[in-house]
Amino acid sequence: MNFNEYPVDSLMYITNRPEIVFTRGKGSWLYDNTGKRYLDFIQGWAVNSLGHCNDGVIEALEKQARTLINPSPAFYNEPMAKLAALLTEHSCFDKVFFANSGAEANEGAIKLSRKWGRKFRNGAYEIITFDHSFHGRTLATMSASGKAGWDTIYAPQVPGFPKADLNDIASVEKLINEKTVAVMLEPIQGEGGVIPATREFMRELRALTKRHNILLIVDEVQSGCGRAGTLFAYELSGIEPDIMTLGKGIGGGVPLAALLSTADVACFEAGDQGGTYNGNPLMTAAGFSVISQLTAPGFLEGVRERGEYLRSELLKLSDERGFNGERGEGLLRALLLDGDQGPQIVEKARLMQPDGLLLNAARPNLLRFMPALNVTKDEIDQMMSMLRSVLDSL
Ligand SMILES: *Cc1c(COP(=O)(O)O)cnc(C)c1O
Repeated sequence: MNFNEYPVDSLMYITNRPEIVFTRGKGSWLYDNTGKRYLDFIQGWAVNSLGHCNDGVIEALEKQARTLINPSPAFYNEPMAKLAALLTEHSCFDKVFFANSGAEANEGAIKLSRKWGRKFRNGAYEIITFDHSFHGRTLATMSASGKAGWDTIYAPQVPGFPKADLNDIASVEKLINEKTVAVMLEPIQGEGGVIPATREFMRELRALTKRHNILLIVDEVQSGCGRAGTLFAYELSGIEPDIMTLGKGIGGGVPLAALLSTADVACFEAGDQGGTYNGNPLMTAAGFSVISQLTAPGFLEGVRERGEYLRSELLKLSDERGFNGERGEGLLRALLLDGDQGPQIVEKARLMQPDGLLLNAARPNLLRFMPALNVTKDEIDQMMSMLRSVLDSL
């Protein structure tokens, strides 16, 4: 179909979209309305952890859709229980609450911390977050985020989120007072430009929060579920946080997110938390398939190998072109450019013929790579060669 035949004018404007309509996808490839194909290193924003239309996810959705779609969150269902058990088995957490988006999971983490503060810390409610962080688009998670301009766009903000600087423990310590209940961070800032918290900083934060008897919350909506080469990024520094949120990759493309905590911290009482779709069997069945595939023997080793390969290829390119290197963990990486040509590269890569390439510039001076976790070495090679021709054409 021609682009003009799609009724896109009824969609509310929220951002500039190119005049194409994606019609199908498989693995690392997306196809548009003209039949053109694109090598996809965005993957729905690190959402399709196993690529487009993964067979296991399809099978789980099909089977569950024919069995039970939603009995109501007021009742147990089997996929919800099985996925929660799988997550607690493979993490340091004991309890799971499912949500439908990363922002909603983070809202849950904020509410759980404030509840814990009310119960055990004399009403403490402040959560220290970080400059350049991203925690979602609800009012509270926008207030928690350290994105430039977000303090005024829908003012007034939700109070109680003082900002520290990532990898600067003194900046955190300075903000701690009797009202502080938690510190919340992304172990790798994703939207901020793929900036990892150092292992040392993670360990210092854990010690500091323990010393002050406050909670450590990791927002692993982007860094979790295999993306960093371990099932969860907090494992890289050998610490155990009190609360973790998951989203994006956990559903393999469908809307699923989770709030996890240790048994001590899971202090919600009846009626404190809920949501109509939370823990519905259709989405949790997809999540069970995803986490089962990620924890299958050898899978995460493969992610680490391919992450290392992507890293070395990006470094090679950076040396060739005089760029500023690369950074990241596993298959969440950024190439640091020598100027603000990121958006131009993204546009040219998409428009390339015969095949396009989908990339993201999280900031104008860098390119972010978040391919499927089962991307092949061959596809990484294709991406690098396409990227080189885009750079040649600038
Ligand atoms: C994407 C993201 C969110 C928000 O998730 P949504 O599903 O878009 O609400 C929160 N935190 C981090 C770290 C993210 O990358």
